[in-house]
Amino acid sequence: MTPSIQSKLPQTGTTIFTVMSSLAAEYQAINLGQGFPDYPMDERLISLVHDAMKNGYNQYVHMAGLPILRERISEKIHRLYDTHVDPSAEITITPGGTYAIYTALTAILQPGDEVILFEPAYDSYIPNIEINGGIPVRIPLSFPDYRIDWNEVKSRVNPRTRAIIINSPHNPSGSVLTEDDISQLREIVKNSRIFIISDEVYEHLIFDGKAHLSMLRYPDLFERSYVCFSFGKVYHCTGWKMGYCVAPAAAMAEFRKVHQFNCFTCHSPVQYALAAFLEDEGAYLSLGTMLQAKRDYFHKLMKQTRFTALPSHGSYFQLYSYAQISQEPEADFAIRLTKEAGVVGIPASAFYKEAVNHQVIRFCFAKKESTLEEAVDRLIRINF
Ligand code: GLN
Repeated sequence: MTPSIQSKLPQTGTTIFTVMSSLAAEYQAINLGQGFPDYPMDERLISLVHDAMKNGYNQYVHMAGLPILRERISEKIHRLYDTHVDPSAEITITPGGTYAIYTALTAILQPGDEVILFEPAYDSYIPNIEINGGIPVRIPLSFPDYRIDWNEVKSRVNPRTRAIIINSPHNPSGSVLTEDDISQLREIVKNSRIFIISDEVYEHLIFDGKAHLSMLRYPDLFERSYVCFSFGKVYHCTGWKMGYCVAPAAAMAEFRKVHQFNCFTCHSPVQYALAAFLEDEGAYLSLGTMLQAKRDYFHKLMKQTRFTALPSHGSYFQLYSYAQISQEPEADFAIRLTKEAGVVGIPASAFYKEAVNHQVIRFCFAKKESTLEEAVDRLIRINF
């Protein structure tokens, strides 16, 4: 008899990104759902990986990541956020940003600890908390501007609160934290046992002249933070699954205890390649301008449809209201759009534990112009 499992995640299904990408393949629809670029990544970075493999860099590197890569990251952080982080003790290379978030939560949570998060929230956060015996405390962002209600946060903080998950630029809304948000956060965590898990994977994808307010900029916030980053988002190679986490030494030591017996260490040739490529600042500093142009182009095209844009100041996502087209629930609408119009988006309701219906769908605009044009042509023609 096959042994049965008492699920650790009884309420968790398959991630919406896999569900919608599978539907896209099944219906040969244009995939503006899952966040990944459809244009090629930089050939130079590919060559660097090839060179590393050819040159024999194919064995394990240090458990925390290739030392020279951690040094390059530390230099980048110094240039961008004017702070020094110790590459030997405060940076760990991870297989992606989601893994970094999971590992940070695993390192800090004891059963019954509460973690505050803001909905809409990236869909890994709640299962990551629950599998570690934590209790998610969900606070809605305001609609339609997706801002944090700090009074609500204050009222939900209590002695069991162990962490607050912050995500700026925000997936799915593209909202970004302001200096006022930072002051409020500071006030709330001061003298507490609260950690900040800061999901900053879209750090460079920030528009309209806004600055990315990384937790790394503020020593009093960084001292209690795990800051999570993604190379996939920065270098258009989401399938490489490479990222890193930055945290103060004592917090990072606990993170590494978990990491070393899970992933142990990441893909070596890619780390050699990234270390060399990070010296080219232009490759990441140009990202905001490039994606802002895509956001604006998509926005211009979408004006021909009955979708209306909600503001997006960062990430490579834009939320659109379909209230002028249909009142149906977001998940139903997204499925119908796939099947009948041949365009995939992600229902915003997938970012909430209890489905809401604001008639909002998320589109990813990190696509070739021709892809965006073809998608919008299809959206213009929908007749429901
Ligand atoms: N971060 C990506 C998104 O929001 C998806 C990553 C994934 O599929 N796990 O679309």
